[in-house]
Amino acid sequence: MIPPVARRFVAGETPAEVLEHARRLRERNVRSIVNLLGEHYRDPEPAAEDAATYRQLVADIAGADIGACISVKPSQIGLGVDARTFEGNLGGIVAAAEREGVFVWIDMEDHTTTDDTIDAFERFVTEHPEMGICVQANLKRTRDDLERLVELPGKVRLVKGAYDEPREISLKGRAAVNDAYREHLEYLFREYDGTVAVGSHDPAMIDRAIELHGEYGTDFEIQMLMGVREDAQVELAREYPVYQYVPYGTKWFSYFYRRVMERKENLVFALRAVAGV
Ligand code: FAD
Repeated sequence: MIPPVARRFVAGETPAEVLEHARRLRERNVRSIVNLLGEHYRDPEPAAEDAATYRQLVADIAGADIGACISVKPSQIGLGVDARTFEGNLGGIVAAAEREGVFVWIDMEDHTTTDDTIDAFERFVTEHPEMGICVQANLKRTRDDLERLVELPGKVRLVKGAYDEPREISLKGRAAVNDAYREHLEYLFREYDGTVAVGSHDPAMIDRAIELHGEYGTDFEIQMLMGVREDAQVELAREYPVYQYVPYGTKWFSYFYRRVMERKENLVFALRAVAGV
């Protein structure tokens, strides 16, 4: 059972709870990107189990008619076993999602997974264009990856990057990452025929994306996490497509812990909730 304090960031433990959350969001014109929590499996069995859960989830999403999509983590569906296991599980999810008309996002994990993740995306998206991939502004390689991705169909989600990467391959410091984010955003709006997803809570990046949309006309959407700037999500959804990334599942603790520790306001919120003040 998820304690009330964690419910700000995690929709529940069951598909019924996450679908109910998505239905309520949809009433406010915000769509959901549903993520089953779980990552870093080294054995094929749990990876296959989570892949099966995703196949069922896309059927449930389609049945609920709430315009939601899913986002999967490569290490959750077998990349920690080997690239073949990952692609086999991803293929099953993508085929089920295509049958049900549900869009599939692939999250990006730490740098050791980037090549395999982009390779798999490239292989699948040419036949199943209802797919998107995430790229991280804090990695030095990202411009090269974008040059490859703009040639493909689908959607690209640009984020600042959640992993603490080695200095040689990554940008350090908020200003450097923000500059790279702006640069990549402009490149995508200028060069990409697909949809640019702005995966950020940062008002400066969202404003810049709106300006770039005015300049280049490229399709875009705004994506934020459940529990973060939710009023802004609803406000922006009056004018632009907005998606909320909604995690659910029994493995909620480490995700909740990361959210609480990444920002002082979130920690204060959690401590207050626990103390009942
Ligand atoms: P930050 O640099 O953290 O903050 C900039 C500004 O945003 C702040 O100054 C403030 O004005 C505002 N802000 C940020 N947080 C809050 C808050 N809690 N309350 C109020 N204002 C706030 N990372 C990956 O590495 N791989 C992924 O696949 C991935 N997928 C993601 C999907 C989505 C939909 C989102 C939103 C993020 C994803 N991330 C992913 C995480 C991302 O890389 C960042 O770590 C995270 O979004 C924080 O960066 P930021 O751009 O939101 O802004």
